[in-house]
Amino acid sequence: MSERPLDDDEIRQMAALGRGPDGRSTDIASGRGVPRWLAAMTRFCSRCGSALALATPPDENRERLACPSCGHITYVNPRLVVTTIPVNDAGEVVLIRRGIAPGYGSWAQPGGFLEIDETVSEAAIRETLEETGLLVQPGELVGLYSRLEAAVVTLVFEARVVGGEARPCAESLEVVAFRADAIPWPEIAFKTSWWGIHDWVARRHPEVALPSSFLGREML
Ligand code: ZN
Repeated sequence: MSERPLDDDEIRQMAALGRGPDGRSTDIASGRGVPRWLAAMTRFCSRCGSALALATPPDENRERLACPSCGHITYVNPRLVVTTIPVNDAGEVVLIRRGIAPGYGSWAQPGGFLEIDETVSEAAIRETLEETGLLVQPGELVGLYSRLEAAVVTLVFEARVVGGEARPCAESLEVVAFRADAIPWPEIAFKTSWWGIHDWVARRHPEVALPSSFLGREML
């Protein structure tokens, strides 16, 4: 099926609706194609090995990484990062100080890339256990946060700590529970983390004063 090209009016109408709450996590304007760092890692056709070139396929309305030899198109889409905001019995939020790049030494909630053979909830439980030693039960979705710079969408679950024991691992230097009014905002690693924790505090602790704009470390 062909993609219908959008006219200028439609593009203006779409833009007037805004980027949505998840747009707070990105500074990259929409519609600029594959980020350069990602295009540099996507150079050859996975079907036949020929060098890929940017071209607009006949049935589509944007440039794609297409194979000039076999016609196979390499679609480049964001990956899903699944994270949790683990909440303990005292109502505190468990964060990790990251022991790996990106964001080494900064605070973030536990999480990681969704694997191909697991559900989103399973990934949330697995990543949290791996990084904190805590077993959690994922609950309400706090939000979804686009990060065009890193080609990811970060999903944030609120999650109740139901077992395990907090302990650092190879990927986390420290595992610490913070009260909602003691979140180390300037030391939060990522915009997606920052907004996820921010939205959770706003929802569960409306009495806590929040910084209104990002002041974390803004790494990818
Ligand atoms: Zn090919």
